[in-house]
Amino acid sequence: MKVAVISDVHSNMDALSVVLDDIEGEGVAQVWCLGDLVGYNAEPDACIEEVRKRCTYVVLGNHDAAVAGHFEPLHFNLAARAAVEWTRKVLKRDNLAYLDRLPSARSVTEEILLVHGSPSDPEAYIMGISQAESELQYLFQRLRKRICFFGHTHVPVLYGMTRSGEVFHEPGEGEVRLDQENLYLINPGSVGQPRDGDPRASYLVLDLRELTVKWVRLVYDVDSAQEKVLRAGLPEFLASRLSRGM
Ligand code: ZN
Repeated sequence: MKVAVISDVHSNMDALSVVLDDIEGEGVAQVWCLGDLVGYNAEPDACIEEVRKRCTYVVLGNHDAAVAGHFEPLHFNLAARAAVEWTRKVLKRDNLAYLDRLPSARSVTEEILLVHGSPSDPEAYIMGISQAESELQYLFQRLRKRICFFGHTHVPVLYGMTRSGEVFHEPGEGEVRLDQENLYLINPGSVGQPRDGDPRASYLVLDLRELTVKWVRLVYDVDSAQEKVLRAGLPEFLASRLSRGM
C-alpha cells in the first residue's frame, strides 16, 4: 500500500490543490495529514474542507489548537498571532468544530505514529540530532512504535537510529529506503509554507510494501497565494516569505 503524507498546509489552497492533484497520480490508498491546516495564509475553510474530504487520518497542529481556542497564542510571533485572530473570525463554525475535535497524535499501524511536533510533546520542534535521539528513544521505549511522521518545523528531513543506537540524519529529498531494524522520525516538509529556502510545496509518498519514502516538491502559484494574503489584510510578511521559502 502507498500513502501520501502531508503537513503544515496553513490555509494555502493554491499549494494544497497542486499537491492533491499530484497525489492523485501517485496511486496512493490513503492520505495522512500531520496538522496545521490553518494559520498564516488566507483560505482556511477551503483547506479544511479539502483535507476532510481527502485525508484518512489528521492530527491537530499548534495553529489549529490556537484557532480552536485551546490556548491563547501569546508566544506566537505577531504575524502568526494576527493570522490566528483573523482565522477565528472568518472560519465556518463547522470547520472550527472539526479542528477542535482533532487528536494530537494518531497510531496508524502497529509500527507507525503520526504527530505534529514530536512524539513526547505536540508543541516541540525537532531541530537537531540530539533532540531526535531522545525523541527516537521515547518513540520506541514509551510508545512502542518504530516510525513517526512529524511536521511543525516545515523542513523535510529524516532522522534514524540503528539497532546499536547510532543516530543519523538525511535531508528530505529524493527516495530513501527504510531499514526494518531502524527507528525513524520523518518530516514530509510543508505544503503551504516551506522553510528550507525552497518555495515549492513539499509532501512525501510512503510505500509500505517496498518500505521507501519519497519526497516530492511542486511549483505552485505563489503569486496567487500572496495576493489572497494581502487582500485578506494579513501581515505583508506572511505573503513575502512564501516566495523565499522561509
Ligand atoms: Zn506549521
